[in-house]
Amino acid sequence: MHLSLVIPCYNEAENVSAMHDAVESAFANCGFEYEMVFVDDGSRDGTYANLRALHERSRQNIRLVRFSRNFGKESALFAGLGHAAGEYVTLIDADLQQRPEVALEMVRFLDAHNEFDCVTAFQAQRREGKLIAFLKRSFYRLMNRVTEIEFVQGASDFRTMRRCMVDAVLSLAEHNRFSKGIFSWVGFQTHYIPYTAEERNAGTSKWGTWKLFKYALDGIISFTTMPLRLTAVLGGGIALLSLVYMMVVIIQKLFFEKPPAGYATQVALILLLGGIQLLCMGILGEYLAKTYVESKRRPIYIAREVIAPKQRKTKEEGEA
Ligand code: UDP
Ligand code: MG
Repeated sequence: MHLSLVIPCYNEAENVSAMHDAVESAFANCGFEYEMVFVDDGSRDGTYANLRALHERSRQNIRLVRFSRNFGKESALFAGLGHAAGEYVTLIDADLQQRPEVALEMVRFLDAHNEFDCVTAFQAQRREGKLIAFLKRSFYRLMNRVTEIEFVQGASDFRTMRRCMVDAVLSLAEHNRFSKGIFSWVGFQTHYIPYTAEERNAGTSKWGTWKLFKYALDGIISFTTMPLRLTAVLGGGIALLSLVYMMVVIIQKLFFEKPPAGYATQVALILLLGGIQLLCMGILGEYLAKTYVESKRRPIYIAREVIAPKQRKTKEEGEA
């Protein structure tokens, strides 16, 4: 097996068949073996039924993993990587926003360039609003400043990895999976190719603004403890300022007979300090919560069903 295409699907009933056909036509004359690993991430529509139908009529190159519920795209990618048999593995969305032809280009590149272990597509031009684009840009800038790993602006999950990198990614069994960070954390030489995302084939994106914001926060907490240090610095800074202020008040009273400022200043200060304390506790709480979740050591996903490609069924059942 040369290539595995890992395809996470959540409520993609209208897309899976088109996706399968697009892959088949893109790889028709590629000259190597490939398989599609569809991960049904607890879809509530007809996705799984359609996948089963595809599996039935396929050329023995479809593997199915069905989750017991929706675990999220990150978990679906992890499951797909775990079940992929290929020497190369491509992560690609089910909605045809990422073209399978580009995946073929990626494989060809890796075949020809032994020094690279990964090819990642990045979106040079995005079809999105100015505000979102600005927020995303700021996020990347921030991440590059506060973490030791490199985040490339616009790099997507759409990528092809060599087996060694796939195994490295699988070895990071953390529960809070922020894959953009994981991919850069494991290292390896990555080649970037520009691409433009197509319009969604059918259905709607599962990423609202709030979900994106939460995802960004998760990324920061997963890959840097800088906010914790920041709270300490903030606390120290405020303590220092209050010392200075205290001296000013004392000097004013002793030498200039000026009474200390009254009620308004006190209320303002109490509110300010209370707010800052709550903020710091919140940051601390975020890290504590993540540690709590990690410490339970729960599995990243639960598969209800795993179906091997048709022809290999007997052999793999023997292994299991
Ligand atoms: N996806 C998933 N689980 C989820 C959400 C999304 O497996 O909980 C899949 C989805 O089916 C698609 C891919 O992840 O194949 C990208 O999702 P989407 O198109 O919603 O994201 P966008 O392209 O807007 O970033
Ligand atoms: Mg999409």
